[in-house]
Amino acid sequence: MTKKVFWADPYKTSLSTTVTSVSGPDITLSETIFFAFSGGQESDAGTIEDHVVSAAQKQGQEIVYTLADDHGLVTGQSVFVQIDWVRRYRLMRLHFAAELVLELFYKKLSGVSKVGAHIAQDKARIDFAWPESIAPLLPSMASDANSIIAADLEIKTAFDDEPNERRYWEISGFSRVPCGGTHVKRTGEIGTIKLKRNNKGRGNERVEIYLAS
Ligand SMILES: [Zn+2]
Repeated sequence: MTKKVFWADPYKTSLSTTVTSVSGPDITLSETIFFAFSGGQESDAGTIEDHVVSAAQKQGQEIVYTLADDHGLVTGQSVFVQIDWVRRYRLMRLHFAAELVLELFYKKLSGVSKVGAHIAQDKARIDFAWPESIAPLLPSMASDANSIIAADLEIKTAFDDEPNERRYWEISGFSRVPCGGTHVKRTGEIGTIKLKRNNKGRGNERVEIYLAS
């Protein structure tokens, strides 16, 4: 199983490690900093020994990286992994912004349920099952989220079940939230956010989350 260094050190942008298996274009690594799509957060972009990673997929507790067919890497080989940090840092900031907004919705809108979420590099979105427009709520949601961001709270992350790789994050004033994504260390790193409603149809409300910078 790949050791996920992106949890212990989400700010690490390069890593020397070893290939543990090769199957055609697909390889696995003994350790990794390269996040694979899960919980709505998109995969990192980057290279393994200068080969561009075209896909990163979770398979159980393993992560499989797809390279070009002619990569030529072999099991046991030492490799250098690099990720696109500009992309990852935006994904981390938007990921936490989305989680914060979601928790505020749960606090303020009794009975609301999340039906989907996606974190990309330019924006995040959360879809809710809710019978009315969320537009009137957004100014106070944004204001509350931006206050928590401005307070620059510590974001604690840890395992609550290490063998099964279950992790959580926690900030002051909120319950623990289960999440296996990558997290910034403090809320202040997110910077000011903006919220926008996007009506997806009857009973389905979408909030889009943008970073001011
Ligand atoms: Zn998270």
